[in-house]
Amino acid sequence: MHHYTLKTSAKLPNWKAELANAVTSVAELLRLLELDPDDGMVLPKPGFRLLVPRGFVNKMQAGNPDDPLLRQVLPLAVERALGGYRDPVGDLDAMPSPGLVHKYRGRVLLLTTGACAIHCRYCFRRHFPYASANPCKSQWQQALDYLKAHADIEEVILSGGDPLVVDNDKLGQLLDALEQISHLRWLRIHTRLPVVLPARIDDALTLQLRQRRFRTTLVIHANHANELMCDEADALQRLATSGVTLLNQSVLLKGVNDSATTLIALSKRLYEFGVLPYYLHLLDPAEGVMHFDVPQSRAIAILDALQAALPGFLVPRLVREIPGAASKTAIFTI
Ligand SMILES: *Cc1c(COP(=O)(O)O)cnc(C)c1O
Ligand code: SF4
Repeated sequence: MHHYTLKTSAKLPNWKAELANAVTSVAELLRLLELDPDDGMVLPKPGFRLLVPRGFVNKMQAGNPDDPLLRQVLPLAVERALGGYRDPVGDLDAMPSPGLVHKYRGRVLLLTTGACAIHCRYCFRRHFPYASANPCKSQWQQALDYLKAHADIEEVILSGGDPLVVDNDKLGQLLDALEQISHLRWLRIHTRLPVVLPARIDDALTLQLRQRRFRTTLVIHANHANELMCDEADALQRLATSGVTLLNQSVLLKGVNDSATTLIALSKRLYEFGVLPYYLHLLDPAEGVMHFDVPQSRAIAILDALQAALPGFLVPRLVREIPGAASKTAIFTI
């Protein structure tokens, strides 16, 4: 475990200070983990920059270059070697208004911000043009107008980026505006913050969620049981006691969680923390991520093993996103 002192102003709320103090230098990350800084596999100055909060680094094992949490954030030279697409799931063709992605009946994604608290190397939105499609800025009203005009939309899903990087005041304004739209009944938030920056789940946030008429679901994103330790349990507990339903989505990632043992441990840890597994996504083939790809045949074998070892409610749905499909496409074992 590593100890550090905050360099930033003590006046910021805890989570903002932690975010401002996150590790952004590859050299520093390697030093903190006592790893060889001259490792030729590493990409020292990646275009999609390194960003990882120190609390997440503390959950990594020093001296282990294959640590499953480190693998998720460490830029590697191999990112430049393989193929992949800039817009792998066709988001840009499904945006009726900037930052609003409407693919499936009854629900829409609202890309609330382009910012995240961690940069995941496998992210399929690595190349998303957030600068021109960010409804929390100038195009907010346009997204709300679209929602108002479509009475069949029952659920709004805040996504990003990470919607909980938005501060409580601004998030409150967005939720106020959404609450005015009477046909919206359900609120969903897709966020990694309870896992990577649990201090974000502060009282002001749980109050924001509690006082709403929406039925609210928060879908966290953890790929490995090591991501869930003590602080995350407290954060999740606070959300659960605020009446929020907690689910998890993971991405199946080579070298991180592509084994039944690892995913069984993750499902059990999630359940201990009050969270049910929802989706296990096959990798979306974005440029720079292909070294994480797990073949579908292997994914099916892993799913088989999960089904043989866990109660049904702890087996995530294995899915792939196919552009143009009416939902995520489930992959079954036979
Ligand atoms: C994944 C996704 C959703 C959510 O799908 P669910 O199956 O309801 O979880 C909604 N909209 C878009 C554009 C998505 O990519
Ligand atoms: S937190 Fe989500 S959106 Fe942000 S980099 Fe990671 S996977 Fe991508």
